Amino acid sequence: MSQALQAVRGMNDILPAEAAFWELFEEAVRGCLKAYGYRPIRLPVVEPTPLFKRAIGEVTDIVEKEMYSFIDSLNGEALTLRPEGTAGCVRALIEHNLAARQTQRLYYIGPMFRHERPQKGRYRQFHQVGVEAFGFAGPDIDAELILMGARLWADLGLDGIELQLNSLGQPEERARHREALVAYFEQHGDQLDEDSRRRLATNPLRILDSKNPAMQALCAAAPRLIDHLGAESLAHFEGVQRLLRDAGIPFTINPRLVRGLDYYNLTVFEWVTDKLGAQGTVCAGGRYDGLVEQLGGKPTPACGFALGVERLIALIREAGGEPAPPAPDVYLAHQGEAAARHAFRVAEGLRDQGLDVLLHCGGGAFKSQLKKADASGAAFAVIIGDDEAASGAAQLKNLRQEGSAQRQLKVDDLAEAIIGHLIDSDDEE
Ligand code: ATP
Ligand code: MG
Repeated sequence: MSQALQAVRGMNDILPAEAAFWELFEEAVRGCLKAYGYRPIRLPVVEPTPLFKRAIGEVTDIVEKEMYSFIDSLNGEALTLRPEGTAGCVRALIEHNLAARQTQRLYYIGPMFRHERPQKGRYRQFHQVGVEAFGFAGPDIDAELILMGARLWADLGLDGIELQLNSLGQPEERARHREALVAYFEQHGDQLDEDSRRRLATNPLRILDSKNPAMQALCAAAPRLIDHLGAESLAHFEGVQRLLRDAGIPFTINPRLVRGLDYYNLTVFEWVTDKLGAQGTVCAGGRYDGLVEQLGGKPTPACGFALGVERLIALIREAGGEPAPPAPDVYLAHQGEAAARHAFRVAEGLRDQGLDVLLHCGGGAFKSQLKKADASGAAFAVIIGDDEAASGAAQLKNLRQEGSAQRQLKVDDLAEAIIGHLIDSDDEE
């Protein structure tokens, strides 16, 4: 036998039992987003490599060391498996002129790819729900996006997810802060780790995002961006906070929240839990007013967030909300050649009436078929032998009522009898 192949490291199979959580999660997400007027957009998983370099920034962890980039061997094109969704969404917005004379509220759900060190809550193929709003300049949309997150956690039955907020101001304000920051870190050059020393020349703000414990004290005492914001930026930030207070959403301002992507300005936020160890950020986002223009479109204010599906599913599992295993309404058992053909028709007929039917496949004795029927969780077994096939009848057995007798019914009456029972037992609950 040849060696069995395995999934690529950091890329997971989501098996049916786990996938049940994913379905519930996605249903909740879609319901919540719909309630706020967001519409789905579906985007490619592969984009031209320059898109990410221009959007995310050359000097970011993602572009420097996490991208799955390759040359298409058929035509020499430089391509990348998307590490995040905003760049592709903005590309589509520009390409299809979606923001001309109208605002857009969009979302997508799908896989992202980053070559990181796999660990709990950190994978190489992971999934995000991305939400983007285009054409809104005011703090109201920032607050709406945050409120929507809060509602989603409630819908999912999750608590203890805390909101952190910061403002990155505008590029000129960041430039002034950058000067102060560089001066500060140069003064303490001996305390910088290797990564930070490199960043000092290229992207000093990102030093503040360092995850190295030895750097924390130094970063905590660094000059704060918020002290360099002008009146307009402060007013925007205050506007977001006011709407959050009105809505009763608690938050902490974290002056060190800078985000790992270069395109943000003004509001940035993260939703963080302490229940997942080091990988505690379940959702992150902010405003990126400059990105559309930077990628060749007309200036368009924008704000959005991405949430980490794996991390949220881990939280849901931890909270114990086990979804009921899917059970069909009917398990259809049959024996004999005529019965098999009859059973196919009966199953389709029941499905036409809206019932979920698991049709037995693979033959075998009635006894073993009925064991499978029971194990499937079906409410009813419908049993068809050659006699029933000849007379257009079927046996109906209630699998969930101890000692209930098997009844013979005409095939045409089956659906009504089953549906009647299902409604009655719903009422009893
Ligand atoms: P981190 O600081 O954890 O690396 P990030 O700032 O790189 O996160 P974003 O690019 O903002 O993350 O992505 C938004 C969300 O997507 C994160 O908050 C997280 O929940 C999730 N996420 C990011 N990278 C991964 C990954 N490799 N595996 C699983 N989830 C991830
Ligand atoms: Mg990261």
